Amino acid sequence: MQDPEVKKAFEELAAQVLEANLRLQSSGLAPLTWGNASALDSTGRYMLIKPSGVPYETMKENDLVLLELATGKQVMGDKRPSSDTPTHLEIYRTFKGVKGVVHTHSRFATVFAQLGREIPPFGTTHADHFYGSVPCARALTKEEVEGEYELNTGKVIAETFKDKDPIAVPGVLVKEHGPFTWGSSAKQAVDNAVALEQIAEMAWRMLALDPDCRTIDDYLLEKHYSRKHGKNAYYGQK
Ligand SMILES: [Zn+2]
Repeated sequence: MQDPEVKKAFEELAAQVLEANLRLQSSGLAPLTWGNASALDSTGRYMLIKPSGVPYETMKENDLVLLELATGKQVMGDKRPSSDTPTHLEIYRTFKGVKGVVHTHSRFATVFAQLGREIPPFGTTHADHFYGSVPCARALTKEEVEGEYELNTGKVIAETFKDKDPIAVPGVLVKEHGPFTWGSSAKQAVDNAVALEQIAEMAWRMLALDPDCRTIDDYLLEKHYSRKHGKNAYYGQK
């Protein structure tokens, strides 16, 4: 007999999580079966995520996998969840207010990740989405890689934000790996993944043309970020 709370969480999230995963491919961020998107339900108890290795072309709502956040126990779905599931769970456990998480190997963001370089804020496109540099996490140690690798990836992401606000900077580069982004929904996490890839490409081109190029002035960064975020935001429709 299916727990009614489990069923409710699945029904709340299924359409948006499927759509978020399909957008990873249609936006060009995730070729093959790379990339994964998840969302947390409104009770904060359950996470729905992409199945492992199922092609986007044939993926259905019933392929998605529901897990209990606290224990990581699979509570619905008969496929295996994405191999990155423990990283997603750890991000939700640590970053309060995050309701959607995305991981891709999008090309330009991954270039910065592989170099172990943060993405500096060079212009207003960056400032509209990320309030400051997008950081690169430290490399995982041999022990962390050989141990609970995916969980440790989540812990290293959390460590990177020890003194940063993950709501103001909703993304990170995992060193020699690729980006994770998040947001208040799966859709917003995908939007942030798309924005991150754009700003990474622009930053790469800026640095290619001028390795000494300067970052955006703080007052302009502040203006653009606060137009879209926080209590005084005025971008878009009410
Ligand atoms: Zn990956």
